[in-house]
Amino acid sequence: MMMTRKCEHCGDKFLAYPNRKGTTGTYPRFCSRKCYTASRREQAMATIKIPDRFWIDHLERALPTPTDIGDFKNHVLIRRDDPAIGELLDDAEHYAHPSGPDSAPRGVIASAKATVRAIRNVIGWDDACPAIKALQR
Ligand SMILES: [Zn+2]
Repeated sequence: MMMTRKCEHCGDKFLAYPNRKGTTGTYPRFCSRKCYTASRREQAMATIKIPDRFWIDHLERALPTPTDIGDFKNHVLIRRDDPAIGELLDDAEHYAHPSGPDSAPRGVIASAKATVRAIRNVIGWDDACPAIKALQR
């Protein structure tokens, strides 16, 4: 069934057809290819993709954890302005630091390092300590 939808990017009303047959089908969210592409670009600017292993470890220790808004198999997509991002970064840097916990599984430490890189490549390295700056690449 054809229906009127509001574009999630520009807000214009447009006539939409379901993506799948039948009334339970999902409807397109954007009025045009242009709005779809622009929206994807804005989401990429507003988010950071990080590996999931350290994120899960952090979450399981009941610490404030950024919400996963993505749908990836081995990665988590978090918003740059998520209020818990600082908690996650501090924890990741603690694990990634040469004097960090040495009882942690190697995979968790490797994931912590990748988490630091992913977040710092977006927010900047300026205020990182030298041992953390050494992870930069
Ligand atoms: Zn639009």
